[in-house]
Amino acid sequence: MARKRKRSRLEKAINSPAEKEHGTSPNLTKYWFQRYDLFSKYDQGIEMDEEGWYSVTPEAIAVKQAERCRGKVVIDCFSGVGGNTIQFAKVCASVIAIDIDPAKVEMAINNAMVYGVGDRVDYVVGDFIHLAPSLKGDVLFLSPPWGGPMYNKVESYTLDMLQPKDGYSLFQIAQSITPNIIMFLPRNVDLAQLEELAWLSSPPLNLEIEENCVGGKIKAITAYFSCSAVYLEKIRTIIA
Ligand code: ADP
Repeated sequence: MARKRKRSRLEKAINSPAEKEHGTSPNLTKYWFQRYDLFSKYDQGIEMDEEGWYSVTPEAIAVKQAERCRGKVVIDCFSGVGGNTIQFAKVCASVIAIDIDPAKVEMAINNAMVYGVGDRVDYVVGDFIHLAPSLKGDVLFLSPPWGGPMYNKVESYTLDMLQPKDGYSLFQIAQSITPNIIMFLPRNVDLAQLEELAWLSSPPLNLEIEENCVGGKIKAITAYFSCSAVYLEKIRTIIA
C-alpha cells in the first residue's frame, strides 16, 4: 500500500499563515520564515502586505540604526509598514514617518501600536519629494525603493537604480533639509558612488559605512553621512 507522502517543509510553508492571513504569494515563503527577525512581536498583531514583506528592515538592523539617532528628531522618508519607525520612536525625540501609500501608513500605525509607541510618531501620507521643502528635522533616514527583490541580480547596484528618483537626486533633496543623512541600501551598492556623494557635498561630509548582517550573512549596508567635526568647529569660530 502506498504510504501517504509527508508534506515537505516548503509545501507547508507555501500554505503558510503569511499567505492565508495576508493573501500573499508563495514567493514570500522565505520572508515568512524570517518573520520574527523582521518583527519580534510578529504574533501580537503585526500587519504586512506583499511589498512590506520585501522591504521592511529586519528589527536588529533597525535597532542599530535608531541607536545612532538617539535623542534626535528623525524623518523616516519611505517608512513602509514601519519597521524603522518603531525603533526610532523608542529612542528618538520624535519621528515623522512618511509614505506615499495610505495602506502602508495604516499598517505602520497599527504596528507602532503593537510596540506601544503609536503616540510618538507623526504620520504623513504623501510623496517625500513634494513634501521635502516643508520638512525640518535633525536626521533624515532614506530607505527608498530598491526596485524589488531583483536588486541583487546585478553585480554592482548603482545609485541610478534607486526609486522614485536616482540616489544623487534623492541625496540632494535630503541635503536641503539636513546634512545628517542615513541611507539604507543593497549590500552590492557601488561604494565609490557613496564616497563621491560625501566628497562632492559642500562642505564635504563624513561617511561611515556599516555592513548589516542577519543570520551571519550581509543583508544590506547603511551609509551614515554627517557634517565633519572640523567644519562644525569652523562655524563655531565664525559665530563666536
Ligand atoms: P523595495 O523596492 O525596497 O521593496 P518598496 O517598493 O516597498 O521598496 O518601497 C518602499 C516604500 O516606499 C513603500 O512603502 C512605498 O509606498 C514608499 N514610497 C515609494 N515612493 C515614495 C515616495 N515618493 N514618497 C514616499 N514614500 C514612497
